[in-house]
Amino acid sequence: MKKEKTEKRLQTILDNIPALKEILLSFDAIDIKRRKISNLLSDMLAATFDDNPSIPPLEWILIRDTIRVFRHIISTRRERLAGFSFLQYIDDLLHKENIGDIQGPSPGFFAEFENLIRGITGKTGVYPQKIPAFLTMEGRDAAGMRSADLSKMTRKANEFIDRYMCGLDYEVVRKRNTNKARILKYFGSTKLEWDDWKWHTRHVIRDADTLRSLIEITDEEYHAVELAVENRIPFGITPYYLSLLDNGPNRDNDYAVRAQVIPSLHYIQKLKEHMECQDSSMDFMLEKDTSPIEGITRRYPMIAILKPVMTCPQICVYCQRNWEIEDVYSTSAILSREKLENALLWLAETPEINEVLITGGDPLILANARIKDMLSKLSSMKHIKRIRIGTRTPVTLPQRITDSLVKDINRFHNPGKREILIITHFEHPYEITPQAMEAVQRFRCCGIGVYNQLVYTFYNSRKFEAAALRQKLRLIGVTPYYTFNTKGKEETDDFRVPIARLMQEQQEEARLLPGAVRTDEIVFNVPRLGKNYLRTTEHHDVISILPDGRRVFEFHPWEKKLSLVDTFVYTDVSIYNYLKRLKAVGENVSDYKTIWYYY
Ligand code: SF4
Repeated sequence: MKKEKTEKRLQTILDNIPALKEILLSFDAIDIKRRKISNLLSDMLAATFDDNPSIPPLEWILIRDTIRVFRHIISTRRERLAGFSFLQYIDDLLHKENIGDIQGPSPGFFAEFENLIRGITGKTGVYPQKIPAFLTMEGRDAAGMRSADLSKMTRKANEFIDRYMCGLDYEVVRKRNTNKARILKYFGSTKLEWDDWKWHTRHVIRDADTLRSLIEITDEEYHAVELAVENRIPFGITPYYLSLLDNGPNRDNDYAVRAQVIPSLHYIQKLKEHMECQDSSMDFMLEKDTSPIEGITRRYPMIAILKPVMTCPQICVYCQRNWEIEDVYSTSAILSREKLENALLWLAETPEINEVLITGGDPLILANARIKDMLSKLSSMKHIKRIRIGTRTPVTLPQRITDSLVKDINRFHNPGKREILIITHFEHPYEITPQAMEAVQRFRCCGIGVYNQLVYTFYNSRKFEAAALRQKLRLIGVTPYYTFNTKGKEETDDFRVPIARLMQEQQEEARLLPGAVRTDEIVFNVPRLGKNYLRTTEHHDVISILPDGRRVFEFHPWEKKLSLVDTFVYTDVSIYNYLKRLKAVGENVSDYKTIWYYY
């Protein structure tokens, strides 16, 4: 954008706060401007706590929040952490003769700045000007009006929720039966074999040609899978999961499940680059720095992770451990008996650990005898009170949850003494099928709780999409547990969603659901340290806005006030670009308009 245009656009935004404009247009030194702006914002903040009839109800909360953010992003400490001065940047754009040598502001930058200023001036437009009628009434009249308003809110939510088809819907079940018959015919197998989980692991789809023979895919999808295989990038889909994909050009219903297993070209290219230079950024969670012994990861005082196997029957494209998983059939994926014994010994000698999460990979890919042996050894440790088994098999391979497996696991579930929990990973209502429900119910029938960890990605982040998932999960016996921000790994950029969207979803969508349904906590996983709760701004701050419109966050460690650990600086994806992508898939971006005011 030309200098004059940029300057004009900034000045128009600043017209909303003449005093701020005056400071920024002055020729004072940058630190004097910083001080003056800080004083101005302090005065404005103080004024928000006075009764001001010109400020619409509840806008004062947004004024308070946006002033706080503006103060943060012009502080010198935050500038140092972010490696970028928002104030200097605005100053350069307004004063420099030639801005050709600095990165031009993107539409995303202008959108952030404009919304920030709107927030500070109480002009967000989030709330209607007219006060709801029930607030002006009392008693039954007020209750009747309130009830009508709440019903309207529910109907609107349901309009969104009803857009997402579920794998339990009659026509979807029928479609999947046809898919199953087609897949069985291709392999020359029987319905009986379909019910055998080992048949599925023997027939995992691992190349582009087989995939194309079984389901309609685009040339780009074919090419991406071909490239993945050529470059030894893990790829695999169980026949069962493949039957959840629609066999046609319409991507309206299956796009969330498809994106999870068919990589994009961008993903393959980026992963290839990282693998070639052994890039440590792939290990986003810095597992190497949190593993006291092979097979164990520890980030919390009472909990440890045990990883007996580093592969899964099916590979998720956005997997945070994609740097560790070699292949579906990798022979080196199983931790050797000796290493597993050492890991178990470490757990036995660490009495502070009272909860073990067995994950990987997917531990339920192991033989029953091995699972039983591991659970038996863990159960013999008096200090282990809870064993969580992290598995995606109820979603990718529900046939694995056989009566004998459940029996072998259940014998170690001992109420009052030791608890076994299943932590699974449904991403979309389209994955909830009669078979998945049956698998969950097998555990539930013997008192074993089943919880869900949702990774919040672009592909399940449309309005009320996660709410639809939570509702269906509860109905099949799964309790929503965590909702994770997608890891900030370059190769999974396509999956990433701005942190503001997670917060918006919790506040405006999940919040409408009954308490027993919205049981999940939204979290950002801080590398090396672990989960940081996103629900309140108490645990993080926005510390800058970059020229490309991305926000920079500072995350506080979970153990602040307990011990001294450093904070973590993270650059998010741009809200503007995210909304643009939503628009491209048919969303009405005005349904998301409050996203700018989540910090
Ligand atoms: S099931 Fe979990 S560990 Fe396995 S590929 Fe998917 S995300 Fe990764």
